[in-house]
Amino acid sequence: MDATHLIQPQSALIIGAGPVGALLALSLHQRGWQVTLIEQHDFAQGLPKSYDSRQLALTAGSVDWLKQTQLLPELLAELTPILSIHSSSQDNFGTTSMTHTEMKVPALGYTLSQQTLGQHLFAALAKTNIPLVGGINLQTLSQTTTQVSLSGVDHENKQHHWQANYLFAADGAHSWIRQKLGIDSQTRHYPHNLLTAIATLAQAHHNLAIERFTVQGPAALLPMQDKQQSKVVYCYPTEDDEQVKATPTAVMIDTLNHQLGRQLGNITQLEAVQHYQLVEIRAHSIQQGHCLLMGNAAHTQHPVAGQGLNLGIRDITAVYDWAQDADQASWFALAEQRQQDHKHTMNFTHGLVTLFSHPSKLVRTAASAGMGLLAFARPLKHRITRIAMGY
Ligand SMILES: Cc1cc2nc3c(=O)[nH]c(=O)nc-3n(C[C@H](O)[C@H](O)[C@H](O)COP(=O)(O)OP(=O)(O)OC[C@H]3O[C@@H](n4cnc5c(N)ncnc54)[C@H](O)[C@@H]3O)c2cc1C
Repeated sequence: MDATHLIQPQSALIIGAGPVGALLALSLHQRGWQVTLIEQHDFAQGLPKSYDSRQLALTAGSVDWLKQTQLLPELLAELTPILSIHSSSQDNFGTTSMTHTEMKVPALGYTLSQQTLGQHLFAALAKTNIPLVGGINLQTLSQTTTQVSLSGVDHENKQHHWQANYLFAADGAHSWIRQKLGIDSQTRHYPHNLLTAIATLAQAHHNLAIERFTVQGPAALLPMQDKQQSKVVYCYPTEDDEQVKATPTAVMIDTLNHQLGRQLGNITQLEAVQHYQLVEIRAHSIQQGHCLLMGNAAHTQHPVAGQGLNLGIRDITAVYDWAQDADQASWFALAEQRQQDHKHTMNFTHGLVTLFSHPSKLVRTAASAGMGLLAFARPLKHRITRIAMGY
């Protein structure tokens, strides 16, 4: 007698509809998985809060993957290419620059606001049959060797129960899933806060990004779609928080012009100012049974190196590749490979942040000198640029 083999699609619960959860949902859906996306935020109030005006620097590697998968084809027109990067250190002599022609690539990276990314992700989700369940307070999590079960209540106190073969936790820095699985994490508080704002410049930015390492932390200017606007990213000591928030805009513009140097000419206007506290959170492990931590739930890091979401996209890329066969034997290798990437990327980011803001002038000068030498050491510079580009 002939046996009939029914190929059941694999199923996944994705927790958190931030950029990592939402993009993962689209990716697994494209692979033919049955996906349910569960979010704490009530969608009646708009998009989740992390889709704010922060300007993301996406690596060429992240953008290439988005192009290949065609997950968000209309997003590509919203990207602003970064054609050159100028890095320097305040009060020291180190300076280096990279250009896309030198690297023989169309762009060194791209910028995009997280808000715009959110609009495209949710427009794409609306075209699928993925259940998008918002306003949920999770209550229980359990798993067998083949199934994960989850329950929660909505804002009308209605109980919900879900089951799937796998659960992907993209529920952010303070991940409920991570805590429920009993996975420890290590938190580091940086002694500075971050200000971001939209700067209008006296002249066009010509797709140039500026990075400047100062004693109180790094600062940057990222080109935006408007040729005369760049996004300011600026660190200041945590104890100055009240004072910085009360600083008149004209004084802040002077401070920023002084901190960021004059490669782009003066900042003449500042708007959409936002402040962030900076923490690094590293999960001690990222996989337990059929649950995997991804994005900020696994690795929250200082934003100045622009690696957080790019690393999250590499998590998604790896799951997307694995999900084609969903081979249980390679599930553990997947987690191992992702954790190595998290470790290396977070060490790179933390090293960059602390080295140039080191209290010792000697250490800062050595770091700056290294940056100056980098401009002459072409193979090394190319290697570092490739890492920053996400290859
Ligand atoms: C100022 C700033 C600038 C940045 N710049 C860059 C950059 O240039 N390049 C870059 O690569 N990265 C950058 N990042 C980092 C990037 O924004 C993050 O990596 C990204 O937001 C992480 O996405 P995520 O989906 O993992 O987490 P989140 O964005 O934190 O989303 C988590 C989601 O989970 C939901 N959630 C939380 N708890 C629960 C729960 N119990 N149940 C259900 N849902 C829950 C939340 O509501 C949220 O929607 C920057 C970050 C900041 C703050």
